[in-house]
Amino acid sequence: MKYQNKATQCVHSGKVGDEKYKGVNSPVYTSSAYNYIDREHLYPRYFNTPNQKAVVQKICELEQAEDGLLFSSGMAAISTTMMGLLQKGDHVIFQNELYGGTKHFIFNEFIKFGVEFSFASSNELTDFEQLIRPQTRIIYVETPSNPLLTLIDLEEISRLAKKHHLLTLIDNTFASPINQNPLLQGIDVVLHSATKYIGGHSDICAGLAVSSREIIKKISKSAWNFGGSPDNQMAYLLERSLKTLHLRVKCQNENAMYLAGQLSVHPLVEKVFYPGLESHPGHLIAKKQMTGFGGMLSFRLQPEIDPVRFTQSLQLLTPAMSLGGVETTLTQPSQTSHSKITQAERDALGISDHLMRLSVGIEDAGELWNDLVQAIKKSYVAEAVSN
Ligand SMILES: *Cc1c(COP(=O)(O)O)cnc(C)c1O
Repeated sequence: MKYQNKATQCVHSGKVGDEKYKGVNSPVYTSSAYNYIDREHLYPRYFNTPNQKAVVQKICELEQAEDGLLFSSGMAAISTTMMGLLQKGDHVIFQNELYGGTKHFIFNEFIKFGVEFSFASSNELTDFEQLIRPQTRIIYVETPSNPLLTLIDLEEISRLAKKHHLLTLIDNTFASPINQNPLLQGIDVVLHSATKYIGGHSDICAGLAVSSREIIKKISKSAWNFGGSPDNQMAYLLERSLKTLHLRVKCQNENAMYLAGQLSVHPLVEKVFYPGLESHPGHLIAKKQMTGFGGMLSFRLQPEIDPVRFTQSLQLLTPAMSLGGVETTLTQPSQTSHSKITQAERDALGISDHLMRLSVGIEDAGELWNDLVQAIKKSYVAEAVSN
């Protein structure tokens, strides 16, 4: 049965029927061995067990995809998908601002397999177009990006790619399937780190790829070889998490919008990066292609604030990597995700020590704001000196 709305799909789509006891939840199939007489060969690494397929079905309905694969991590989804679609001698064009793990994968693995790559110097279409060569096969984007939440126009990118017979891939982790469904803008493959919003409770590591039946079939062949399959217990936990995805993301969107608004009028905050703000350069694109502006935002504190003291003064918010959980977390990208690049590279990207990235949770927005305000107050340098 197909359901019409995301709230209903989150709860009901893909459920494994419990014919015997009529329980409302999917039974957990613990087996790695199945009788094959007169039936399909089921095996976890063939990505076809009932609990794996339940999650895939739910995400397919949310993303309006024909088929998909559930992996044991976001990087397993990203690496297997690319290796499955590429061959030696092929060329890929990447957006400049990418998740750190994806960049590591490109720099460390592509060379070994003889795959070439280029990074677009900006999010402008012309900067992608001028990099296209006869060997180019894929354009890969990530919007909104980490940590500055820049936007790429998905319709424009997919039109450009189709003109040149290229495939388009997107890492849709930051938006989640609730806020953005890139297949509707003509993108070919949607990737997720399900460790983030889809899992949502900071206790699962998983990844997903969804696309057309034909493309998923192609990726499957490599997936069986690389073996990044998830176990059934985890798949069940993910299905359970997905039931509240719609509720969680709706609340995270609202809380992030509130905090972005408050931060943007605070005198000790220099700049706020959130696609929901009219001042954000990607606001109009976000309005066009997203149904919610998301739970991720960044802000730059004024120079009078000691950034280390600020992160140490937080009481409710946790300074922690990862994102998308029900709890609000904060990172200082210059010390975490972007600590391995040089100061000059960070400056070029606009990532100073005063930049903070927030993954907004589902707590009370007022309490979150009070915590940020008290931490800003405590880390005001003039005060630190007088202490
Ligand atoms: C976390 C993350 C990944 C990698 O996912 P893992 O589950 O850690 O392997 C990829 N892309 C983005 C945008 C992420 O935030």
